[in-house]
Amino acid sequence: MITSQTQDSWDFFLEFIEERCSSTEFENWISPIKVIESTSDKLVLEVPNIFVQEYLVDNYKKDLVQFVPTLSSGEPAIEFVIAEPKKQAQANQISVPVSEIASSDIPKEHQELRLNPFYTFENFIEGPSNQFVKSAALGVAARPGKSYNPLFIHGGVGLGKTHLLHAIGHTIKQNHKKLRVHAITTEAFINDLVDNLRNKTLDKMKKFYRSLDVLLVDDIQFLQNRQNFEEEFCNTFETLINQNKQIVITSDKPPGQLKLSERMIARMEWGLVANIGVPDLETRVAILQHKAEQKGFKIPQKVAFFIAEHIFNNVRQLEGAINRLSAYCRMMGLDVTEEVVEKALSELFQMAPSKRISVENILKSVATIYEVRISDLKGNSRSKDIAFPRQVAMYLAKELINDSLIKLSSSFGGKTHSTLLHAWKKISGQVETDEVLRKQIQMARRNLEA
Ligand code: ADP
Ligand code: MG
Repeated sequence: MITSQTQDSWDFFLEFIEERCSSTEFENWISPIKVIESTSDKLVLEVPNIFVQEYLVDNYKKDLVQFVPTLSSGEPAIEFVIAEPKKQAQANQISVPVSEIASSDIPKEHQELRLNPFYTFENFIEGPSNQFVKSAALGVAARPGKSYNPLFIHGGVGLGKTHLLHAIGHTIKQNHKKLRVHAITTEAFINDLVDNLRNKTLDKMKKFYRSLDVLLVDDIQFLQNRQNFEEEFCNTFETLINQNKQIVITSDKPPGQLKLSERMIARMEWGLVANIGVPDLETRVAILQHKAEQKGFKIPQKVAFFIAEHIFNNVRQLEGAINRLSAYCRMMGLDVTEEVVEKALSELFQMAPSKRISVENILKSVATIYEVRISDLKGNSRSKDIAFPRQVAMYLAKELINDSLIKLSSSFGGKTHSTLLHAWKKISGQVETDEVLRKQIQMARRNLEA
């Protein structure tokens, strides 16, 4: 039973926490928690997995007790229920026998597993933006096929998706020598399919894929608009999952935003969907220091901060910065100072937006595109001509600014975070099908990022 009073206390806790963590952290760790039962003396929460439970208790016990009922010991009176994995109901129903394949049957190109040797868990620096996805990846690597299946990792360019995918591959290969692990990019899968169709060896290919224990698929977004290939991929996927073989997929968008069949999207949502966000300043500094150390290059902490402040939305660019800087300093025989950094990296710095995107900039840009006044966007008018641009601005704020929803929404003339979230959801959905809106948003983004 959820009484309004206790449900409120959880909502108050959510609001409290939201102001204290990044939006990625909130989305990954806090928002998947559901209230199952709430009375004046206890709270029953459903969590997707044990990591979320531990995260909540480890990080927020002190805060929780201010909001939720407590035991006489002073501990929060919370019972946790782990949600049933969605795919479990489907698994085991169909068991597809896969004939043993002698390894000589496997075409040469399938056998190659080219994992980048640097993409290991040890080399993956953890921070609030990727903690959740890293622990999920570790879980999968420790118990392939037995924790989350599939594990779906999504996030922007250069944020470490491929790195984590390969790290899973390395760990499984090290610890489970008998398991057959295969890592592939979606494009390579499609090429493979085309070759095998042409050579009339499709059966052989099917046999190969369906005999794997672990399939690691990078950049599934390339399956969009490739209907024929999608079906074959989906069949392979189902066969493996139904035998509890592990699948890990990366993508630049969450499943629901991919232009794929409903069947495929539903399959990808069976397991755990985890977002990898833009690392915060401290994490970027740690990544820079780690990359520099690997190259035997030393950078003073102050300089690392200086670089990390200017390059903030792509880890790959951080890496590029270190490479360029170390080459520059070696060649010129210079020490690493801020002045040297500015000389060596000025181009990279220009590529990264020099000013941070703010809600004010977004409002200005949206107001120009839709020919409305900024004050209207901040106001309360529900007229469609104003409410719609306001929602677009809210969408952009959530997409482009890594700040808590509460902070963001308050910059819209004191709206609530749920209004902002609602706007974001609506526009995210609409942008998929509405070409005009997509162009308008593109225009605003370009304008802001210029
Ligand atoms: P994506 O596949 O998301 O586009 P990658 O996995 O290719 O990104 O990562 C880009 C580069 O950034 C790689 O060299 C990777 O090692 C590095 N990288 C990304 N995130 C991290 C991290 N958290 N710690 C260390 N290196 C990282
Ligand atoms: Mg990648």
